[in-house]
Amino acid sequence: MTRSLWVKFLILLLSISAISLSAALTLRELIIMDFEEYLEGETEDRIYRVMAAIEGSYERYSGWDEESLKENTIWALLLGYEVRILDADNQELVSTKAVVEHLPPLAQRRLSAITGFPSEDGQPLSNASFTNYPLFLGGEGIGFMEIRPVLARQGEGKETIFKMRSDRFLILVVFLLGGLSLILSLIYSRRMTDPIKKLTRAARNIAEGDMTQRVTVRGNDEISNLARAFNTMADSLALQEALRRKLTANIAHELRTPLSAMQGEIEGILDGLISFDRERLVSLHEETNRLKHIIEGIEELSRAQASALELRRERIPLKPFLENIRERYDKLFADKGVRLEFECADRVTAYADPDKLSQIVINLLSNALKATGEGGVVRVRAGEKETESFIEVSDTGRGIRKEDLPFIFERFYRASEGGLGLGLTIAQELAEAHGGKIDVLSDYGKGSTFRVTIPAFTISS
Ligand code: ADP
Repeated sequence: MTRSLWVKFLILLLSISAISLSAALTLRELIIMDFEEYLEGETEDRIYRVMAAIEGSYERYSGWDEESLKENTIWALLLGYEVRILDADNQELVSTKAVVEHLPPLAQRRLSAITGFPSEDGQPLSNASFTNYPLFLGGEGIGFMEIRPVLARQGEGKETIFKMRSDRFLILVVFLLGGLSLILSLIYSRRMTDPIKKLTRAARNIAEGDMTQRVTVRGNDEISNLARAFNTMADSLALQEALRRKLTANIAHELRTPLSAMQGEIEGILDGLISFDRERLVSLHEETNRLKHIIEGIEELSRAQASALELRRERIPLKPFLENIRERYDKLFADKGVRLEFECADRVTAYADPDKLSQIVINLLSNALKATGEGGVVRVRAGEKETESFIEVSDTGRGIRKEDLPFIFERFYRASEGGLGLGLTIAQELAEAHGGKIDVLSDYGKGSTFRVTIPAFTISS
């Protein structure tokens, strides 16, 4: 069963409130238990005080004095006890009941109002039985005191009040806590789920093709980090989408030119306007070759773009690596009258995929050869620093105009006649797949230098 986040928050907060409430209840029970114990202790104390007063009176009067006993009886009553005092022969000397009965009615009513004795209907309020305590003086038994609380339980009134108050407090807490947790959970769940809802909406809109969708980011918690990551992802998707559209438009444009030429020639032949001879066939063949060339270039580009996922990096000693390329290209350069020079120390290495690295160098070399006329020089120089290796291809060729320089790495961009405008794009994709880059310096009319930099180790992201 799926529950929305805010319901989960609600359950969480309510469970916390329930736990706090049960803690409060337990605490209340413990306090009541303590209170009862305190009351029991208090009861015993009072009884001993009454006994001590009676024994004291016996000592003072060297025997039982009726007046003093009556006073003690009233005092015991004020402490909440009904007593009967008996002499050593178990004869009743005085009792609360008898003493109170002999009081004037006004005094009786006042006592009754204070202590509850005698009760209005004359019935004892407590049905507790009397407890008998022997009375002593100097180790000798002088009589007995029978005592029982006037109310069912001593301190009953206080305990009831205490319980009533704590119950009221608990009810208040239940409503306050419950209400507060409900309001808090609503506010917090809203706060937390709102950005998630916005993210979901934005993600849906992007899925439907609206690449402009972004979410506003506030704060620095996990959800705002998610929103930030979402916006970055949306930026990158929008960029990819723009590049894809541009690439599609570029490809369509590149393919249209040779196709239109072919179509024109074929229609001319069909209409009898152009003679169909070997020359036409050669021309058509050239156009198909050009088409094939473009398609191969596009395939090569998409392979280069995917190469980050399939790099086989190894430590390549650059001197023999460049020597090998030189052997393959020496003749081409010599045929054009361009001098090819190499400069690389013996122990220089690069941590790269050999196939991809040689493709980068070959693309740069063939561009340099195209740009350099007879008598020119193309120099390849390689070196290594602590964190990176580099290969530089410089030529004394025609150079690149300032206005073309920012665009030469773009797909299908050509600053001069011929070529597809993909060589540098592919080289750059391959360098970036290694975590590296290509920089260019060019002086129009004097020559250019392309520098490939590859990190000396894999940088994990
Ligand atoms: P292509 O595959 O057509 O050579 P590139 O992407 O390799 O295309 O290069 C793009 C453009 O940059 C070329 O049309 C060319 O004019 C210019 N270019 C590249 N390298 C050099 C160079 N070494 N000297 C002068 N121009 C260059």
